[in-house]
Amino acid sequence: MDLVDNCATAGPVMFDGCGSRIIEDGGPMSLQFNVSQLLKEPIGSARTYPCTGTFALDQGSDGSHVQGTAQFTKTDRGIWVSSSGKATAESLCSRCLVPFGYWVAFSIDEEYLPQTDVRSGLRIRYDEEVEEALRIDEFHTLDLSEALRQYTIAAMPLQPLCHPGCRGLCQQCGANLNEGPCGCAAPEDPRFALLRSFLTRSPDAQRQGP
Ligand SMILES: [Zn+2]
Ligand SMILES: [Zn+2]
Repeated sequence: MDLVDNCATAGPVMFDGCGSRIIEDGGPMSLQFNVSQLLKEPIGSARTYPCTGTFALDQGSDGSHVQGTAQFTKTDRGIWVSSSGKATAESLCSRCLVPFGYWVAFSIDEEYLPQTDVRSGLRIRYDEEVEEALRIDEFHTLDLSEALRQYTIAAMPLQPLCHPGCRGLCQQCGANLNEGPCGCAAPEDPRFALLRSFLTRSPDAQRQGP
């Protein structure tokens, strides 16, 4: 993949509630944050962490790399997450059909709710169904992966282009025109087809009119 810059060199990092690094060797835990300490703090307490790691954008994909920041703020019920940054995605160019990698900007604003009380360990019941992606699990782990996946997919372009000037495929032979001209005659512009048929009619036919 040809990306603007290479974020794979920045190792995924996991932070505990106090912001110190507890895992630096990467792996699937890197977008998971232990928020047990923050859950015990007063409303309005906040932390900002780097948001770096990989998540699965869709089944079978290599994993999307994330670079960004995440601010966690204690609310009356849980933790408000404001996270922004960029994630890698891969698409087929909508013109030349060649796969290419690119960055997608994301901006997440969501409230995550704990499933168990951080002090008593008792299960918390909510009046409404809490979306699975927004649950803080019984180990007080807040996992940004699913929200990142959803927000990144929502931000992906509907008609991605490998570059703004992509020449696409020849409509006659299918050659990738970014690799050079294919030798086919330029396709006729349909707007001129009527005019051309008029001009190539015999003089007699022109005199009789349409
Ligand atoms: Zn293209
Ligand atoms: Zn051609």
